[in-house]
Amino acid sequence: MTIKANRLDPESYASNFSDVHPPFETKEGALVEANRCLFCYDAPCTKSCPTSIDVPQFIREITTANIKGSAKTIFDANILGAGCSRVCPVEKLCEGACVYNNLHEKPISIARLQRYSTEMAIREKWPLYQRKPDNGKRVAVVGAGPAGLACAHALSLAGTAVDIYEKEEKGGGLMTYGVAAYKVTPEFCQDEVDWVLSLGGITVHYGKALGKDVQLSELNEKYDAVFLGIGVGVARELGIPGEELEGVVDAISFIYELRTNSYEKIAVGDKVAVIGMGMTAIDAATQSIRLGAKEVTLIYRRTEHEKPCTQKELDIARLDGCQFIWLAAPKEVIGNDGKVTQLVCSRMKLGEPDASGRRAPVDTGETFTLAVDMIIKAAGQIPFVDVVSGAAIKHQSGKMIIDATTSTNIAGVFAGGDCVNGGKEVVNAVQAGKDGAASILTYLGITN
Ligand SMILES: Cc1cc2nc3c(=O)[nH]c(=O)nc-3n(C[C@H](O)[C@H](O)[C@H](O)COP(=O)(O)OP(=O)(O)OC[C@H]3O[C@@H](n4cnc5c(N)ncnc54)[C@H](O)[C@@H]3O)c2cc1C
Ligand code: SF4
Repeated sequence: MTIKANRLDPESYASNFSDVHPPFETKEGALVEANRCLFCYDAPCTKSCPTSIDVPQFIREITTANIKGSAKTIFDANILGAGCSRVCPVEKLCEGACVYNNLHEKPISIARLQRYSTEMAIREKWPLYQRKPDNGKRVAVVGAGPAGLACAHALSLAGTAVDIYEKEEKGGGLMTYGVAAYKVTPEFCQDEVDWVLSLGGITVHYGKALGKDVQLSELNEKYDAVFLGIGVGVARELGIPGEELEGVVDAISFIYELRTNSYEKIAVGDKVAVIGMGMTAIDAATQSIRLGAKEVTLIYRRTEHEKPCTQKELDIARLDGCQFIWLAAPKEVIGNDGKVTQLVCSRMKLGEPDASGRRAPVDTGETFTLAVDMIIKAAGQIPFVDVVSGAAIKHQSGKMIIDATTSTNIAGVFAGGDCVNGGKEVVNAVQAGKDGAASILTYLGITN
């Protein structure tokens, strides 16, 4: 057993990482699906979308062949509507709320229809927006992820000049560096970033990290306001013996490598254990299989009933051939010659319900051992505590604390997205960016 790269032929990589939710191939296909919509009054899908996209309206526009209008309806609520149409966990959002579910029929394919309109707009480069005249204000945005981009777009639209400071060499945040490659390709992410920036009035300074290349105090002095959208990025340690052995990697770094290199360069094991059952764990597991791992086992300390991933994600991992061990927690990593060879796990059981009704996993004292040559840790992410406390932002375990206006404890400094909520979805970050921009415009006395 060894961890090695270049396991498959180019055709296998291409097919394993092809689009997991292919778009409508024909105009007719989109039209037939759009015509299934009941155009509900007070639509539950719109209420379940964190960015409140007017779903019945954009679908109605597709039925009348007004694709430009449809794309505008989507982008008005969510400027990253194209990306969201590929990555949103729709079964727990808009599509999960579709009334067809109550009729035991397939819900409307809202995301696919959203993808149809928005990708056409991006491909055709339709100029859907024009900035208001310059209002004389300048705002710094830190982080070019979904929150930062949505904030920058809304500010620029209102005539504000925006400078984005981004530590990486590309924009898009975790869309570019985290989300599974079979959901969004690097080319798609670049096109979406270009689409947002095509409005004008936004300059991105790549390779500039807050706390290293720029300081918050400088930005606060130089600009009329600052928005922080730096996300959460550090993987949580397991805190068990042997974690430092070669072959134990964290999911964020593994996926980052995968998203920034060609597939044949990514080393993966024969027998991989993935710790965790969230979206990141599922992405790490399914992508390991698609890179050529022979056996991938996901380990979770609770039961399937409490899994944090969605059923759809679990089904993808099952179809890919991943195995699951429920009620188990990693206890020790054992190695040979500095390389991981085994993972010892404790068997868990669920304890009594706490005040919230949640039953915590309890160690039964029994253990079992798995033979592995790679362990991927996906037990959650922790915020950039050093950067946040270094900038004197009030925080709780690194998560920035904001008030109802998205303002931090520092006057003129606002924040939103994963760096505040600790890690949700892209669509939540987009809404946080919109909220931040609205608060900044009010703070600057600009009526939109
Ligand atoms: C592996 C993985 C898979 C995921 N899959 C999905 C999915 O399928 N669907 C979904 O909806 N969500 C998914 N998510 C969650 C989603 O990606 C995030 O919720 C979303 O990207 C948060 O947006 P954000 O702008 O707040 O932060 P981020 O996307 O993290 O963007 C923050 C940006 O700030 C930059 N930055 C960080 N520190 C600094 C600094 N000091 N100075 C300057 N710039 C800095 C970062 O480089 C980054 O570009 C996934 C997350 C992970 C980790
Ligand atoms: S942004 Fe996401 S949740 Fe909202 S309507 Fe589109 S696919 Fe559904």
